[in-house]
Amino acid sequence: MSQDNSILCALNIKDNNIKNVSVFDSKINTNGVVKRIKLVKAELSYNLTHCPQCGENMLIKNGKRTTNQRLASFNGMEYHLILKKQRYLCRNCGSTCGAHSDLLVKNHTMTKQIKARIFDMSHESFTLSSMAKLLGISTSTVSRILYGNTKLSERSSYLPENLCFDEFRSVKNVFTFISIDAKTHHLIDLVHDRLSKTLTEHFINKYSLKERQNVKTVSIDLNANYQLIVHKIFPNAQIIVDRFHIVQLCSRALDQVRIQTLKKIDDKKSRSYKALKKDWRLFHLPEADVWTPHMLST
Ligand SMILES: [Zn+2]
Repeated sequence: MSQDNSILCALNIKDNNIKNVSVFDSKINTNGVVKRIKLVKAELSYNLTHCPQCGENMLIKNGKRTTNQRLASFNGMEYHLILKKQRYLCRNCGSTCGAHSDLLVKNHTMTKQIKARIFDMSHESFTLSSMAKLLGISTSTVSRILYGNTKLSERSSYLPENLCFDEFRSVKNVFTFISIDAKTHHLIDLVHDRLSKTLTEHFINKYSLKERQNVKTVSIDLNANYQLIVHKIFPNAQIIVDRFHIVQLCSRALDQVRIQTLKKIDDKKSRSYKALKKDWRLFHLPEADVWTPHMLST
């Protein structure tokens, strides 16, 4: 295997028209921050005979154009592909064109390789920032590639009888509203806002009254806003406060009392102090699972 082939194989590039490959260590300065990168230098050339414009067999080679493309990283370091692409000139119509590779996306700096890696990693539930860190690109680039051409559907094809509402922090720390089917856990709606007005308008405008009347239960956290709008949107629905959120609330209250008690104990070396501080997990266990129930009595 030639040196070119070995490097292309290591970089997972399968285009045989890419030749004269060499790899160097280099540095770039981005806004005063010096970063170590890998530079992969190569040439892209092949024999093109017929002009894409006029179809005549009158093409001649006409210099090279250097482009800077980004390859998928293998270790979090940026991999820049400095590719010299062959240009061609048609002696019949005077038009020019350039060599193209399947690895590249026209007018884009990111190669198909990096895009494929982002989609693979998104299936594995990597966060945007961890994908960016591993691939050596910015979070906004990952977000643009993932969601750039994604358009959320206006509405779900159906409204289930049992819905769940919640919210999560999405891109740029904005809260996004999510609703799912309580039985199948299929996604029903995503709304990039959690304001009562937006959500009410969303459901009333996108779903008919008959569809909304069929909803029997809506499971929510203890968010008072949702409690106010659920009956307005779904006239026949019952509100269910999700068990997880009740348990979470109780756990937090229990911890608060434990810490308050801890602060009142002056003797930091006493057994009660140590038990309250070190054995905090015990307080969250069901009574039957605490194997020495009297250990804290002294
Ligand atoms: Zn031509």
